[in-house]
Amino acid sequence: MDEQLNYAPCGYLSLSDDGTIRTINQTLLSLLGYDLYELQGKHVNTILPVSSRSFYQLYFFPMIKLQEQVEEMYLTFKSKTNNDIPILLNALRKKRNGEIVNDCVLFQIKNRYEYEQSLLTVKKETEKRNRVKSEQIAELDLLRRELESKQKELLEVNAQLQKLASTDGLTGLKNRRSLQEDLTSNISLSTRLSQPLSLLLLDIDHFKRINDTFGHLTGDKILQELGVLLTEESRKDDISARYGGEEFAMILPNTNQADAIKIAERIRLRIESEGWTNQTITISIGIATLTLGDTVDTFQSRADQALYSSKNRGRNRVTHACCIE
Ligand code: GH3
Ligand code: MG
Ligand code: MG
Repeated sequence: MDEQLNYAPCGYLSLSDDGTIRTINQTLLSLLGYDLYELQGKHVNTILPVSSRSFYQLYFFPMIKLQEQVEEMYLTFKSKTNNDIPILLNALRKKRNGEIVNDCVLFQIKNRYEYEQSLLTVKKETEKRNRVKSEQIAELDLLRRELESKQKELLEVNAQLQKLASTDGLTGLKNRRSLQEDLTSNISLSTRLSQPLSLLLLDIDHFKRINDTFGHLTGDKILQELGVLLTEESRKDDISARYGGEEFAMILPNTNQADAIKIAERIRLRIESEGWTNQTITISIGIATLTLGDTVDTFQSRADQALYSSKNRGRNRVTHACCIE
């Protein structure tokens, strides 16, 4: 081999068809760490790691036989000290001196290989971080949804509690505490809008007698049915409530004295003529209509006096506070 080829800036290797190394230049020998006598006449497997041997057999060899050349094939060689050496290989199949030879030139691709390895590492690391990030995002999303559902539950429980706290257990109407609040807000609103506001207090006549005659349970049932009846008689903005034992109240927004009397009379008549089991039920009603300077107390107290008057005058009647003699 001439000097120039022996020390060319690339490896050179000539193989016979059975894989025997015919010649090998000094550049490649130095790269692999061998002396010429150690490789010449040996099989190429000597300088191939196991992983490259099958590649050589199944790919390189059939290809060069078929196409008579191989270009830019990546292969890994093995040095004498068993280090992997990635190389790029070009090969040409020729007939020389009556013999078939496969001439190969090889370039070490150490830098590129290392560069690719580090790129691969970075890629893997990025993928791993992305995976962790998406897992964390999914976990956060789950927690956020759990929190939202808990908050919703809490709001629902609060709403239920609030409803319970303002509802009368027997009739389902608003209770006295809630009525006081509604009275306060309705007095403010009516004053601000200069609208009339009326309040009815309704008390069942001789209810004690009904309890005594038919029993407490029947009494309860009548209270419940009366609750339904008052709800049916209420318009959209009216508020009906259980004021106390057998006493009820209705707030009638935007309702003047005359209309309040008509409404109360209609309710009184309906109760009187309703088909109650076993007995007749009547009710006495007291009405007050808001006047300038009224507070919740004065407003309520005038309705109460009107109710007292209805009772005194024989029960089953309606009295407006303005007309108490
Ligand atoms: P008046 O015509 O003067 O109003 O007579 P009254 O018997 O209705 O009034 P009184 O205040 O003497 O009695 C009220 C009765 O209402 C006595 C009480 O046992 C009954 N009562 C109060 N709350 C309930 C209840 O929740 N259920 C039942 N069944 N009865 C009740
Ligand atoms: Mg009473
Ligand atoms: Mg009564």
